[in-house]
Amino acid sequence: MDDQMPAILGGKPLLKEKLPPPNNIGDEEVNAVTKVLRTGMLSGFLAMAGPQFLGGSEVRNFEDHFAEKFRVKYAVGMNSATTALEAAVGALGIGADDEVIVPPYTMCATATCVLTNNAIPVFADIDENTFNIDPKDVKRKITERTKAIIAVNLFGQPAALDELKKIADEHNLKLIEDNAQAPAAMFDGKFSGTIGDVGVFSLNRHKTMQSGEGGVLVTNDKRVALRAQLIRNHGEVVMDQMMEQDKNQQYEPLIGSNFRMTEPLAALSLEQLKKLDFLTEHRVALANYLTEQLAQFDFITPPFINPKATHVYYLYSMKFDAKKAGISRDAFVKAMQAENLPVSAGYIKPIYLYPIYQEKPHKCSGPFYYRKPEYPKGLCPVTERMYEKELITTDICRYPLTKDHIDLFIQGIKKIINAKSKLQQ
Ligand SMILES: *Cc1c(COP(=O)(O)O)cnc(C)c1O
Repeated sequence: MDDQMPAILGGKPLLKEKLPPPNNIGDEEVNAVTKVLRTGMLSGFLAMAGPQFLGGSEVRNFEDHFAEKFRVKYAVGMNSATTALEAAVGALGIGADDEVIVPPYTMCATATCVLTNNAIPVFADIDENTFNIDPKDVKRKITERTKAIIAVNLFGQPAALDELKKIADEHNLKLIEDNAQAPAAMFDGKFSGTIGDVGVFSLNRHKTMQSGEGGVLVTNDKRVALRAQLIRNHGEVVMDQMMEQDKNQQYEPLIGSNFRMTEPLAALSLEQLKKLDFLTEHRVALANYLTEQLAQFDFITPPFINPKATHVYYLYSMKFDAKKAGISRDAFVKAMQAENLPVSAGYIKPIYLYPIYQEKPHKCSGPFYYRKPEYPKGLCPVTERMYEKELITTDICRYPLTKDHIDLFIQGIKKIINAKSKLQQ
């Protein structure tokens, strides 16, 4: 058979089969979890005043290491980044009738955490080079009801955190960083996730450090940390003791939930934290190699790197110029996928186009809100263009893949482009 024939036309695929899902779990994790399982103490939490309100020894040990690693005062372990985001919004006292500015090009929880706190997500468009929230559009979306900005450090690259912090300070807003995709990325010499008032990390199985499911909230503000701990563990039951113990803190009553981290999860997460630098260096090295190789194609733009930031390549993002390539993005991506190469088109649908925002916008506002939020198509044109036409992502830089995989990726691009006249729909 002709080796140059694209698999989508019946040729032999470059990779025999799809790459297996990531697995970075080793003996270290197995041993750490086994040790905890043998104690029989799988959670140290109790929802009552006293030391157990803050969880067991594994959770607290993990939190101490996490805070030390990222140079923050407080780390609060949770059972996901989704719940950590929900706690972050609640810990900042944001609720009904408040607006929070968020980007639409992100995992849904970035906006859902606003809704679950009965506040209103207001979408600001992204920057077409970094794909992160655009500070200029953030400014345009500020109203008297705006209370916070959530910046997502998307694909592993910090947002324009300096500009966003400045805007937040000028308008007396809080800055929350959804850092789920960018652990160990740096901005201006600091870890991303630690520059805003609150930062959130994810430990879900797709992320660079992973323990299946899990999340961490970080902050340097003692009161915010405490409120997050209250939200994590049914805070309403300890409010009376808290309020009595320390009158200066002026605790406002709040309700909590159950966002608690188990002991085995904390032990496992600590082992992953120890591997973070190694896993990150692996990604960065492969990404740099991929960027070098992509220079030969004028129709692919590799990630733009903000000179103040480092990129940790949770996903490697490319802009695809269909005119220059002579083939549509979607036809190109389908053909690459048929070669069993890991690539996808568009990333995520702009989240305001999900049915909850389109069909039930009244569900996206507090009961007494002065207007129904509107989320028309066209709201964030740059995001829609990236989603519909230009953006391609690949996770081919992850551990334990190698330069050989990158070489196959490049070979795949050449193979598809050489056959483009047969592929164009
Ligand atoms: C993965 C992710 C989340 C949610 O993380 P979970 O731990 O799965 O809840 C939130 N935001 C972004 C940007 C993510 O990539």
